[in-house]
Amino acid sequence: IKEGRAPEPGEAVRISVDVDRRSAIQRHHTVTHLLHWALHEIVSRDAAQKGSYVGPDKLTFDFICAALTPQQKRDVEKLVNEKIAENAPVSWTEIPYAEARKRKGIQQFFGEKYGDTVRVVQIGGESKALDGYSMELCGGTHVRSTSEIGSFRIVKEEAIAAGIRRIEAVAGDAARDWAQQEATKQQERFDALARKKSDIATLPAFSNEDETAEMLKQIDVRAAHLEKVDVDVREWEKKNAKASDARIKSRAAEIAKELAASCAGKDFCVTEVPNADGKLLGAVADALKTKFKGPIFLAGAIDGRVALIASVPNEMTSKFQANKLIQETAPIVGGKGGGRPENAQGVGTDASKIDQALDRAKKIFTA
Ligand SMILES: [Zn+2]
Repeated sequence: IKEGRAPEPGEAVRISVDVDRRSAIQRHHTVTHLLHWALHEIVSRDAAQKGSYVGPDKLTFDFICAALTPQQKRDVEKLVNEKIAENAPVSWTEIPYAEARKRKGIQQFFGEKYGDTVRVVQIGGESKALDGYSMELCGGTHVRSTSEIGSFRIVKEEAIAAGIRRIEAVAGDAARDWAQQEATKQQERFDALARKKSDIATLPAFSNEDETAEMLKQIDVRAAHLEKVDVDVREWEKKNAKASDARIKSRAAEIAKELAASCAGKDFCVTEVPNADGKLLGAVADALKTKFKGPIFLAGAIDGRVALIASVPNEMTSKFQANKLIQETAPIVGGKGGGRPENAQGVGTDASKIDQALDRAKKIFTA
């Protein structure tokens, strides 16, 4: 009731059904029968139903089972779609519950309370002859023949509790909506990959105008393509990172060699490394440590972003601590940092104050 009062017993009422909504529910409900049957055929006879939601937007089906393999998922989906394409009749008939109980081919919840007369919904076989491949006790609303269901698609298969799986699926217009949304997501994923690597192979086309079954095929082709591109991009990134690490290391070795020469004989090595970020400074400090035995303090900047690094040999940490050094100098360049007494790093935003930070470090080392 959307508004007004509830009717009194015996009062005449007019009811109406939202046909589009009801048809969508009929499709999803009927295909739930097919899904249940197909799970028994392909996965396990013991895949007992634990619950189900049927709406105009989607269906969910909960059942007791181990996780489905990707192949099982595809096979179930394929079998359901084959049964839809067959355009089998969907019929129902009422029989005494005592009779339904005796028949093994009729799905029912044992332990559930049924009336004396039950309604059996069958798919396939001769109408009402109780010889369909799918037969269930059911009071729900169904399509008249399976082709009315339209294309069926499993969109998710997941655990919802220990030993209980949930399949989420769509059919008909809902499958079409899903395909369109999925195509948009795929495009976004592709764009994100293209931003990383511009020369990746173009995403196969998706057409909003095609039949739903065709759209679903396009979605699969695109998904496989994205999978492959994703792997390619990740491998390419890994290779790049390796190459860039090697470049940094060799540049750091050169700089460390120069610094070792210029700092030779001094008590400490405090200097700016031009155009250096934290990564390069760290590599320079690592290389320099093997050639220079005193405390090291390095500063660098790229695009106004300052990096600081301090390194103190173990045996000198009672006198100087790298972390304290950074805590004293980082605020000068408008930043902060920290670390351990042997090694510490800092960042800052004011490159014009690097000389002041270096002076402070020298003062600390000469104190
Ligand atoms: Zn039903």
